[in-house]
Amino acid sequence: MSHSNIAIFVPHAGCPHCCSFCDQRTITGKTQAPHAADVKAACEQAWDEVSDRTDTEIAFFGGSFTAIPRDYMTELLEAAKPFVGGSGFRGIRISTRPDCIDREVLEILRSYGVTAIELGAQSMSDKVLKANERGHSAAAVYEASQLIREYGFELGLQIMTGLYASEIGDERLTCQAVLDIKPDTVRIYPVSVLDGTKLAELYRSGEYKLMDFDTVISICAKAAAEFHKAGIRILRIGLHASEEVGSKLVAGFYHPALGELVRSRAVRDLIVQNMPDGCETLEVHVGKSMVSAALGHKKCNKEYFGKRGVTLDIVQDSTLESRQLTIGGKVFDCF
Ligand code: SF4
Repeated sequence: MSHSNIAIFVPHAGCPHCCSFCDQRTITGKTQAPHAADVKAACEQAWDEVSDRTDTEIAFFGGSFTAIPRDYMTELLEAAKPFVGGSGFRGIRISTRPDCIDREVLEILRSYGVTAIELGAQSMSDKVLKANERGHSAAAVYEASQLIREYGFELGLQIMTGLYASEIGDERLTCQAVLDIKPDTVRIYPVSVLDGTKLAELYRSGEYKLMDFDTVISICAKAAAEFHKAGIRILRIGLHASEEVGSKLVAGFYHPALGELVRSRAVRDLIVQNMPDGCETLEVHVGKSMVSAALGHKKCNKEYFGKRGVTLDIVQDSTLESRQLTIGGKVFDCF
């Protein structure tokens, strides 16, 4: 199912403190918290503009929605509710912290037509959560996920790759935990170190040594391929490119086409795992959305195989679905 949002940002609303990596004002490009009138205006504007309202959700992002003072939280939901259901928008999506979920708040969310809850899990390693000042444990993610499921909401998890103190083993642990929880959706955010954050200080002092870019792309590609195979929908890889993020970027894994880089690596991994032994020329047929991912950014996949003595030919094939490819006669699905 395709997915579109009317994104309403509540930068840092409800957050008990600021996590090491976070600057929602820069990431969302918004500095002011919205009021009911802003929510109503955004919904009214989208009402006629979106082509399929039943495929669109009103989404409150950028803060800890369920930790917002109750009166303000319900004011926002009250303003969104009349636009949901029937011929209106599909539902309301919110993002929040795992330690801010309990039965009481889930009852409230349900009564206002909230359909999907995304949890900022970030890492499933307690060591990494502590080092990045998250203020909750991995156990809180398991518990909140279970409760969200019990109440029948769509569950999303957001994870970050390459956080301070995270090693390959921690990344692996996080990926496996996501597979175990099996949320409906996932967002993968390789770390962008933004000026003014604790991470920027740690990076400048030399305390935070970043993984190299290629390693992070490889971790994300493997995780995304496994999530896709497990039926977990990948909603996003990498931050949206924006002037604000670009201007405050100190270091990290930020690229305007990060999702495409990750997809290219996943295709490369798939070819390596499935190419016939000893072949010198390999023809890979791909659906129409896979051509550039298969070739790789600046044709890097072609170059990669060329260096190993294999000529890679990518052929667009209209008999394949848009994200399918065939290697040695076998059909594969990509995210
Ligand atoms: S990561 Fe989430 S909880 Fe932490 S400061 Fe950012 S929005 Fe708030």
